[in-house]
Amino acid sequence: MDIERHLLNEIRSSGPISLDDFMEAVLSKYYNSYYRAKNPLGEKKDFITSPEVSQMFGEMIALWVYNQWIISGKGEVNLAELGPGRGVLMRDIISVLDKTDMKNHYKISFVEVNEELIKEQKKILSGKQITWIKNPADIMDMKNIFIANEFFDALPIKQYHKVKSSWKELVINSNEFNDSLLFDKKVVTDDLNKYLNDEYPNAKDGANVEESIRTIEIIKLIAENVKKYNSSALIIDYGYDIDPKKRKSTQFYSTLQALRDHKYVPVLDKVGTADITAHVDFNAIKKAVKQRFAYSSEVISQREFLLSLGIELRLNELKKKNPELESILESQVNRLVSKDQMGELFKVIMITSNKQKFFS
Ligand code: SAH
Repeated sequence: MDIERHLLNEIRSSGPISLDDFMEAVLSKYYNSYYRAKNPLGEKKDFITSPEVSQMFGEMIALWVYNQWIISGKGEVNLAELGPGRGVLMRDIISVLDKTDMKNHYKISFVEVNEELIKEQKKILSGKQITWIKNPADIMDMKNIFIANEFFDALPIKQYHKVKSSWKELVINSNEFNDSLLFDKKVVTDDLNKYLNDEYPNAKDGANVEESIRTIEIIKLIAENVKKYNSSALIIDYGYDIDPKKRKSTQFYSTLQALRDHKYVPVLDKVGTADITAHVDFNAIKKAVKQRFAYSSEVISQREFLLSLGIELRLNELKKKNPELESILESQVNRLVSKDQMGELFKVIMITSNKQKFFS
C-alpha cells in the first residue's frame, strides 16, 4: 500500500494526525517509507551531503575524533554514527585514525533504518567490523564518540501556529472531495497554550514554532552517556540557535521542507517519494544537554569548524599530490565552507562531559 493510502486510512479511522506522526510515517515507519525504500544520496539522487562532496570533510572530523579520544584518556571506544548515509564519512574518518595509535582501540556502530544504505555501507567499509542498530538506546552502556551529520534534520517535528492570540497545532487531515491530504489546525490544551505563550513572548499572530520530541529524547540519552562514560558527541546540521525568549517577531517561520531530485516540492505532494526535513533547533539541544548535566559547546558554523581544523592545509597538500585535480579540489572546499553554500547554513555543536570549547 502506498504511504498516502496508509495515511488516508488512518485519518479516516482515527481523525487528523499530527505533523510528527505524519513525518514518521512518510520517512521511516513503513517498509516503503522514504528512508527505508531507497538510497536518497548523491548528485543524481535527491540531495547531497558534505561527506559526499569531499573526503576532506571526514578527514577534518577525524582530527576532532582523535583529539576527543586523547583528552578522554584513550582506552577502548565505540565510534557511533547516527544516520551514516552511504558510509563515506566513516570511511574517511578511519582512513586517518588508522594512521594513529587509536587504530586498534575502536569499534564501530551504525544507527540506520535504511536497508539499501546498509548494503552500500557494507560495500564501502568491507572488512571492517560494524554493528548495525536501529535505536540509539542500544549503545548507551559503553564509551562512545557519537557523530551525526544531517541526521537530526530527518527526525519528526511538531509545529504550532499562533492564530487570533492562541496556539494551534498543525495536523494533516483528508480532503473528502478528492481523496487527498491537506494541512489543518487543531486546538491545543490550555497548559500547552500557556507554555507556548511563556516560552515565546514575542510571538505575534501568524507565528510558527517547531519542536522535535524525538531529537530531544535522543539528545538526552547521548548526554547521559557522555556524562557517565566520558563520551563525546559531534552534531552537524542545518539549523538555528536562538533563545526562544529573545526570538524576534521575524524569526517565527516554518522550516519544514521537502526535497526531490535537488528541488523543493510541496510537502504533501506524492508523500514518501521526497525527503522531508526541518531545521535543527540547536538551542533546544543545548537545553536538553544541560538538563542531563553534560556540557554543550558554543554553536559554530561549519565554515569556522573546517577552517579551524585546517582544511586549507589539507587542500594544499592534496593539490600538490594531484595537480590535475586542483580546480576540482578547490571547488569542493568552496562548497563546504563558503558562506553562500554550506559554510554558514550548517552548524556544529559538541557535547562533552566536562566544559570544553571548540578551539581554545
Ligand atoms: N550522514 C550521512 C547521511 C545523511 S541522510 C551523510 O552525511 O551523507 C540521513 C541518514 O539518516 C540516512 O542514512 C538515513 O537512512 C538515516 N535515518 C533517517 N531517519 C532515521 C531514523 N529514524 N533512524 C535511524 N536512521 C535514520
